Amino acid sequence: MAGQANPFESLQEQVDDAAAFLDAPPDVVTRLKNPERLLETNLTFERDDGSLETVRAYRSQFNGDRGPYKGGIRYHPGVTRDEVKALSGWMAYKCAVVDVPYGGGKGGIAIDPADYSESELERLTRAFATELRPLIGEDRDIPAPDVNTGQREMNWIKDTYETLENTTAPGVITGKALDSGGSEGRVEATGRSVALAAREAFDWLDRDLAGATVAVQGYGNAGSIAAALLADLGADVVAVSDSSGGIRAPDGLDPRAVKDHKAETGSVSGYGRFAAITNEELLTLDVDLLVPAALENAIDGDLAADVRADVIAEAANGPLTPDADDVLAEKDVYVVPDILANAGGVTVSYFEWVQNRQRFYWTESRVNEELERVITEAFEGIVDAFEAHETPNLRTAAYVVAIDRIVDAADQAGNWP
Ligand code: GLU
Repeated sequence: MAGQANPFESLQEQVDDAAAFLDAPPDVVTRLKNPERLLETNLTFERDDGSLETVRAYRSQFNGDRGPYKGGIRYHPGVTRDEVKALSGWMAYKCAVVDVPYGGGKGGIAIDPADYSESELERLTRAFATELRPLIGEDRDIPAPDVNTGQREMNWIKDTYETLENTTAPGVITGKALDSGGSEGRVEATGRSVALAAREAFDWLDRDLAGATVAVQGYGNAGSIAAALLADLGADVVAVSDSSGGIRAPDGLDPRAVKDHKAETGSVSGYGRFAAITNEELLTLDVDLLVPAALENAIDGDLAADVRADVIAEAANGPLTPDADDVLAEKDVYVVPDILANAGGVTVSYFEWVQNRQRFYWTESRVNEELERVITEAFEGIVDAFEAHETPNLRTAAYVVAIDRIVDAADQAGNWP
């Protein structure tokens, strides 16, 4: 894969780029570029053979001006302190762009979950939940799923927290299974907002999504669902990939059948006898819409020079480096930024938390309707900022909108030394 940029430096550059369009004083910009609090800790847990293992874990609370810290927990060998700091910042700006009343947070454990059994992962997750307990809470910091975590891990964290606190507090975490207080539509929400944001972008550019060609890099929860919903909107998904490689289907493929194949075999490769392609080849295909849905730094400045897509909708967090942004703006490639395109996940997390607090649960159609309203209104807000401030791209416009909201909240709270 392409770049090795430090994601935290990328975040800081994105904030600086937007702050240049606002009159934010230097002390405010410093606050906007650094987390308020960071937990870095050891987790020691028992392996199935009775031995003990210790791994590193993190939780970054970036900004709480607009509400409780909010953001997922990922299990991945690439997790570092700086990655978690960056991801927590992206959450703060994401929540502000879609105007859900949260700050930003993120956590992670530096492991490959494929190396562990389910019972080992349960002990590890409960060890993390125990470390997190003083920091989290329904009104304090609310974790959620991220890369390689899902309902199972969220249910364990909820149970650990509630047991230690001797209470019921389902809103302490989102992305739970339905029977544990989860919301209809939450699993699909990230992919759904990617498809909605792409639809809005194509409308704005006077282009037709029906018949448009789409390539999707990364076929986890976000990528596979975005692909399926884009196909439902009439687009032709002509290439998909995951960490082990990709397939190219010039006449389009059935995204749900590819997902079933991946569930059976562990990979998209080998589905339907289509030609194999590398991730790099997929990212430089001549398509109407490219959806990077894997990890940070998928496209750096060098690779961006070879990108031939017209529109990019970021399903992953941070898939483009700031150098890539510059190259793509120069080439008039429109990038719908992560902090809008993938914000459906945290938006439906917010709906889940509201339902948990009210003990009153919504239908799936209500969830999807409210989500559509949030994403389309947020897209309009970004386009307004793009036109009013003449920002170089939609990402900087999104940060302008978000920073404005965070700074307003901080100003209204005042300073209390
Ligand atoms: N991990 C998701 C994200 O990066 C969802 C976070 C949440 O629901 O709090 O946006």
